Amino acid sequence: MTARFDAIVIGAGPAGAEAAIAAARHGRRVAVLDEQPAAGGQVWRAPVGGFAGKGDADHRAGDDLRERLAASPATTQFGRRVWSVVGPGLGRDTGFRVDALGPDGNESLEAPALVVATGAHERVTPFPGWTLPGVIGLAAATVLLKSHGAAPGARVVVAGCGPLLAVVAAGLVAAGVEIAAIVDRAARRDWAMRLPALLGRPSLALRGAMLAGRARLAGAPFFAAHGVRRAEGEEAVRRVVIGPVDAQGAPIAGQERAFDCDALVVGHGLTTACEVTRLMRAEHRYDRLRGGWMPVVDQAFRTTVEGLYAVGDGAGVRGQIMASLAGRRAGLAIAAGQGADVAQECARIDRALVRAAPFSDAMASLMAQRPAEVAAIAAGTVVCRCEDVTRGEIDAAITDGARDIDQLKHFTRCGMGPCQGRSCSDAAEELMAAALNVSRETVGRWTGRPPLRPVALGEMIGAFDYADIPIPTPAPL
Ligand SMILES: Cc1cc2nc3c(=O)[nH]c(=O)nc-3n(C[C@H](O)[C@H](O)[C@H](O)COP(=O)(O)OP(=O)(O)OC[C@H]3O[C@@H](n4cnc5c(N)ncnc54)[C@H](O)[C@@H]3O)c2cc1C
Repeated sequence: MTARFDAIVIGAGPAGAEAAIAAARHGRRVAVLDEQPAAGGQVWRAPVGGFAGKGDADHRAGDDLRERLAASPATTQFGRRVWSVVGPGLGRDTGFRVDALGPDGNESLEAPALVVATGAHERVTPFPGWTLPGVIGLAAATVLLKSHGAAPGARVVVAGCGPLLAVVAAGLVAAGVEIAAIVDRAARRDWAMRLPALLGRPSLALRGAMLAGRARLAGAPFFAAHGVRRAEGEEAVRRVVIGPVDAQGAPIAGQERAFDCDALVVGHGLTTACEVTRLMRAEHRYDRLRGGWMPVVDQAFRTTVEGLYAVGDGAGVRGQIMASLAGRRAGLAIAAGQGADVAQECARIDRALVRAAPFSDAMASLMAQRPAEVAAIAAGTVVCRCEDVTRGEIDAAITDGARDIDQLKHFTRCGMGPCQGRSCSDAAEELMAAALNVSRETVGRWTGRPPLRPVALGEMIGAFDYADIPIPTPAPL
C-alpha cells in the first residue's frame, strides 16, 4: 500500500527535521524518513544500544530537536533506508514516489514535494595503508564516540583537517585514549587567515578552541602543516608515518616521524551526499570549497526539478547552523506554496543565513579537497576500495582512452562496488581532470541510479511463492 503526504523529507538531521517541523506546523501532511533509529543526523546522533550519551552540548541540542520533532504533527519513520526515488520525467509525470526498506520490508510513499536532506559523506584521500583494519574516518570516529561511547583504539593517531580534528581528539581524550599525535593538514596561518570569519560566531570559535586545548593539555604532540605518508602493519595498523605538506597538501621534503599506535583516525573533509538529486536529474554544479558536486538551488532551496528541494550538507557542506536554517526555509516554502503566509519568517531566515555564511564557509574551506594531495597518491595505492582499483590502473585507463568518469568506470570498475563511488569518486574525478587538463565538469559525475543504498534483492521483493508468478503467454510466432 502507498501512503500519501503533502511532502516527504529524506533525512532527519538538523536540515530535514527542521524542514518537516516547519511544514507540518503550517498544516502540511509531512513524512520524514531516516535510516537511523532516531532524529539528529550526524552532528546530533542519538546514543544507541544502552549507551546513555555524554550529556554534552551536542547531546542536549539533539534531544531538543528530537523532542520538537516528536511534538510536531509530522509523521516520523525511523530505521527506513530509502533506496529508490522516482519523480517528474523519471517514471512519473508529477510528484514523487519514495521506496524505503524498514522493519516490515519495503514501504512506498508519495507526495507532490520532496525534501532531500541526506547530509554528507566523509572524504579520505588515499595513502598507502589507508585500507588497513584500524584506520577509520574522523567523521566515523564521532559516530563511535557519540552513539556508542566507544573508542577506535587505545593509542591513536588523529589526522586530517577541519574542525572534526579537534572534536575527535577531545572526545578521545575524554574517553581515556592516549593520543600518539594530532596531525593537521592546515598550517597555523590557514587558521589565522580565517580568524575574522570565525570570530563572527564567538561562542562556536571559543568552543573549538577549548576542544583543541583539551587534547593539547593532555600532552598530545601536535603537528601543523603535516599529513600522513603511510600507515603500516600486517593484519592491522601498527605504525603511522607523517611528514610535512605544503599549502596545497602536497608532501614536501622534511623530517618524517613515525608513531606506534593501534588505530589511525583520519579524514580530509566531507563531500555532499547528493545521490537523490542526481538520480532526479536536477542540475548540479561543482564547488570545491563546499564539498564538491551540489544541486543548483534558489533562495527557497528549490532545485531545478519541480517540487524537489535540497537542504543541508547534501546541497553544499556548510555545517549544522546553515543546515538547520535551510531546512526551516524549505519547509516554509512548501507551506507557502500551499497557501500559508510565511513571508516575515522567511525574511528573518534569509537574514540569518547571510549572517551565518562567513563562519560556515571558513570551516568548509578548511575541509575542501586539495588537488595536490590527490596528485600525490602513489601508483600502487588503492583508490576504489570496493573494487581494488589503484591509481596506476586509473592512469592506465586514461592513457588507453578513457575521457570521462563513466568511461573510467567501464574500463576499470572504479566506482562499481557496493558504495557506488561514494568514497572514491572525488579522488577519481580529480585524478582524471588533472591528467586530461580539463575541468571537473568536463570529467562529469557517475550517473545517479537506484538502489541508493546497498539492499538485498530478497528484502525488496519480500516473500513469494514461485507458483504465484504469472507466466506470460508466449508471443505468436
Ligand atoms: C559521519 C559524519 C559525522 C559528523 N560529525 C560531526 C560532528 O561531530 N560535529 C559537527 O559539527 N559536524 C559533524 N558532521 C557534519 C554534520 O553532519 C553537518 O554539518 C550537519 O549535521 C548537517 O546536517 P544535515 O541535516 O544536512 O545532514 P546530517 O546530519 O548528515 O543528516 C542526514 C540524515 O540523512 C539520513 N539519510 C541519508 N541518506 C539516507 C537514505 N538513503 N535513507 C534514509 N536516511 C538517509 C542520515 O541517516 C542522516 O540522519 C559529521 C558529518 C558526517 C558525515
